[in-house]
Amino acid sequence: MNLPDYASWQKMANDFIHQSKAFIDGEYVDALSGKTYETVNPATEKMSAHIAACDANDVDKATKSARAVFDAGHWSRMAARDRGAVLQKLAGLVQENANKLALMESLNVGKPIMEARMADINLASQALKWYGEAIDKLTDEIIATPESVRATITREPMGVVGVVVPWNFPLLMACWKIAPALAAGNSVIVKPSEQTPQSILKLAELAIEAGIPDGVFNVITGIGPEAGAAIGLHNDIDCLTFTGSTAVGKKFLEYSGRSNMKAVWLECGGKNPNIVMADCPNMDKAVMNAAMNVFFNQGEVCAAASRLLVEESIKDEFVERVTAIGKTRIPGDPLNPDTNLGAIVDKNQYDRINGYIAKGQEEGAEMILGGDTATVDGKGLFIKPTVFKNVNNDMVIAREEIFGPVLAAISFKNIDEAIKIANDSPYGLAAGIWTRDINVAHKAAREIQAGSVSINSYSSIDIALPFGGYKQSGIGVDKSLHAIEKYTNIKSTWLELD
Ligand code: NAD
Repeated sequence: MNLPDYASWQKMANDFIHQSKAFIDGEYVDALSGKTYETVNPATEKMSAHIAACDANDVDKATKSARAVFDAGHWSRMAARDRGAVLQKLAGLVQENANKLALMESLNVGKPIMEARMADINLASQALKWYGEAIDKLTDEIIATPESVRATITREPMGVVGVVVPWNFPLLMACWKIAPALAAGNSVIVKPSEQTPQSILKLAELAIEAGIPDGVFNVITGIGPEAGAAIGLHNDIDCLTFTGSTAVGKKFLEYSGRSNMKAVWLECGGKNPNIVMADCPNMDKAVMNAAMNVFFNQGEVCAAASRLLVEESIKDEFVERVTAIGKTRIPGDPLNPDTNLGAIVDKNQYDRINGYIAKGQEEGAEMILGGDTATVDGKGLFIKPTVFKNVNNDMVIAREEIFGPVLAAISFKNIDEAIKIANDSPYGLAAGIWTRDINVAHKAAREIQAGSVSINSYSSIDIALPFGGYKQSGIGVDKSLHAIEKYTNIKSTWLELD
């Protein structure tokens, strides 16, 4: 693959668009109020773009457009195979525009350009392609009845789906929802995070080029409590699918109750346990996974392995080896293809992470790496990889989601204690278990309360596998064929024949 070098990425960044409108009914539009807000590049702390600040009126306009095209059936009643072909074409257009999209993610999130290019964009394109390929393979059901009856169970698109997503993987998190929702025949109104709207706006433009009718794919830019709340509260939006914090996820449940009882699907936070037993079959791999899964994307990952549970007899050596890998993650200009640690998305998140680091020290955890901030060429919001050992699971740094490059290492004596600690959390998103003993592996996989458990690996990211949370990590799943169920209603039809 021919990828741009550092100088080329910098040149592309200089030509970056400094203004972004919303996308409604197939075209870019200003907010009806004319208001805008600014996004800031966290690696330089300079303004990067003026973005349309939409409110309830814009949401209403987008909903009317989305509803009209849904009712007209241009997309909702198109043959599944034809919809699938359009989504596959869109996946191809994402690949053709991959460098541009990766640049948007890097400049807005502060993430290393190569991670944006190779992970975010490729996986977003894969999701569109996979659902495009899958949708015409699904069949409905006929139940056993007397001969005089034909009874069917069919799935129908819900109508207008609101999609509200976070900033950590802007395009990817959106595509995990948009792809199955569109494949099923719905219209969508997407609300990107205020920090990171541009890649999703570009996707909406590419969707028109791929053949998705005007009004099927709308993007409302704006501030969460205004634009996001207006989507949650709208009476003509049938379903709301959200990725973000648990606190905001709960608000969407309230919005639904206060409006039209729309279906609400939530992918929320995590405080994920990664359990390493002394009989781990591949220590090198376990060390590398433990480190990469908390430092990748600056630790701004819902499934980050942020609680490292290590068996007492190996804890010192294991944590030291993870720390040694942490030292190789060096803050750098996200546009430099060699950079492996980017900036933190914004000042709020930067302060929040620093607050947790201070709290860990106050509570008596032993900080053996990091704890300090950094700049690159005198600028930017960077935090160095940080490792705490001798953490107790009652400490705030073990209970709350930090969403930064901060590892809390906790030791345990046996598998029962490890599982007890793992489950002693309000969250239940992902978990890992490293052991040679199949009985221990199976026990952990069965007893850990989490939507995904990896054995002798960490983080299962295959698009065909469901991804979702137990407890306060969420309701429903993204990815896999099961995600399509979230965006369809089930209909029973009973036909009596003469
Ligand atoms: P967030 O909850 O602050 O924001 C998410 C979205 O909700 C944004 O679009 C935001 O504008 C909107 N929003 C914020 N306040 C709102 C309100 N009052 N009403 C309506 N909408 C509102 O989350 P974030 O800071 O963007 O992202 C980080 C969080 O996302 C972390 O908690 C992380 O675990 C979670 N996350 C979860 C998954 C998953 O799959 N489970 C994946 C990625 C991120």
